[in-house]
Amino acid sequence: MGAGALRKDGGMSDSRRTKIVATVGPASQSPEVIAAMADAGMDVARVPLAHGTVEEAVARVRAIRAAAPGVGIMPDLPGPKIRTAAFPPGGVALPAGSVIALRPARDGDTSTSEAIGVCHPDLVGGLEAGDRVALGDGGVVLTVQRRTGDSVEALVHNGGRLQGRPGVTAPSGRVELDTPTADDLRRLEVLIGEGVDAVAVSFVRSAADMDAVRRAAGADCPLLVAKIETPEAVGALEQIVASADAVMVARGDLGVRMALEDVPHIQKEIIRVGVRYARPVITATQMLESMITAPVPTRAEVADVANAVLDGTSAVMLSGETAVGADPVSVIETMARITRRAEQDFDSVGWATHLAPQQVPGGPVSVARLTAATTAAGWRAAMEQNASCIVACTRSGTTARSISRFRPPMPLIACTPSERTARALTLSWGVRTLTIGEASSTDEIVWFAVQAVVGAGYASPGDVIVVLAGSPIEPEPATDTMRLVRIH
Ligand code: PEP
Repeated sequence: MGAGALRKDGGMSDSRRTKIVATVGPASQSPEVIAAMADAGMDVARVPLAHGTVEEAVARVRAIRAAAPGVGIMPDLPGPKIRTAAFPPGGVALPAGSVIALRPARDGDTSTSEAIGVCHPDLVGGLEAGDRVALGDGGVVLTVQRRTGDSVEALVHNGGRLQGRPGVTAPSGRVELDTPTADDLRRLEVLIGEGVDAVAVSFVRSAADMDAVRRAAGADCPLLVAKIETPEAVGALEQIVASADAVMVARGDLGVRMALEDVPHIQKEIIRVGVRYARPVITATQMLESMITAPVPTRAEVADVANAVLDGTSAVMLSGETAVGADPVSVIETMARITRRAEQDFDSVGWATHLAPQQVPGGPVSVARLTAATTAAGWRAAMEQNASCIVACTRSGTTARSISRFRPPMPLIACTPSERTARALTLSWGVRTLTIGEASSTDEIVWFAVQAVVGAGYASPGDVIVVLAGSPIEPEPATDTMRLVRIH
């Protein structure tokens, strides 16, 4: 079920099309808050694994499933992110101009304003004088001055407050970091056993990294979300998008590793490529950051969320705002209001007209191209007939993702026999889902779908609807049927 859509009244109440991903953390892990977040509009719950054990993540996944069964669940594998040893509760101020030591963290180490432990055995050893090291989302920057034994002395270039276990970013090449890590793959296996719907993969550098995760996941692979957050990933964007099921514009790490002023332009490019490949794109990080403590966002944050919608993002993401923020439910309500308002000004016709002639990659008779051609015809027919909805009959979700790329103005309903596919589609722009029975022919699929859509109130006598379907007996099913159905 598309969260926020059919939960209460058959799906007609929430007209929002852009999906909301919210990170579940200490401030939001109780069943009551999770249920309230789902009611406020959380479509997908993100469970970060950067902090805590896999057992804690499993407990969170189970709590979310129990409290909000229609919400998609997306654990986020941390990859080779290097962090500091923990700062004491309340954090520590590092004034600009002060000098601190960076040293390899020992067991049970804490970081202080004089010495910061780095949780990687080789990173400090690889640093050279003049290297700039960023801590956290890049607010605090140090410059390495000299080596003293196994530590280095560094000048605090940009000061700030550090708390928890912020990430450590050194110049590339100082230490070899492979994605996925062995730890990522161990966690992935456990999480697949929990039936999660999507998994985000951090610090992807190439399509081969995504292929390695897919191979390890095996036949039961959830939707794989490639986080684009390194210069290497930006350079190999098209291949990574092709090898992933969805992508995330991970602006936090992108902004540390690339020039900040490039990030908005990289965001637009990732969205453009993702949409061309019919992959959901999540725009993430600092979207409503000030609401971690404040009751209302800044004007700039509101504009950022609205602009991401106008860029064509499929989903917007909340991180600390819902994980550790003062009022996770109010943040989601705010996000829902901003996205709904921005969608009113989204140029749906201009968008689809621009997209229609763009060739979907793949050979002329590939499944991808057949499905793309049929869904393009479906969009055009729906517009010409002023259809009351477009119905994508889908087993894997591909047909729904393919038609979703056109951002059609009418409701977009995915009819699927698979609960898992329904939950994975919580990430796709505009898609609401209905579960239908298994069918043995295209005619039967269309019939089941029409019954479901009419039953749920999406179409009434006199309406025309567009139904997209494939043949269930094809060995490699493609969406090869587009029907205009008049409802009697
Ligand atoms: C990011 O860097 O923007 C991001 C989403 O990743 P993480 O929160 O895991 O650092």
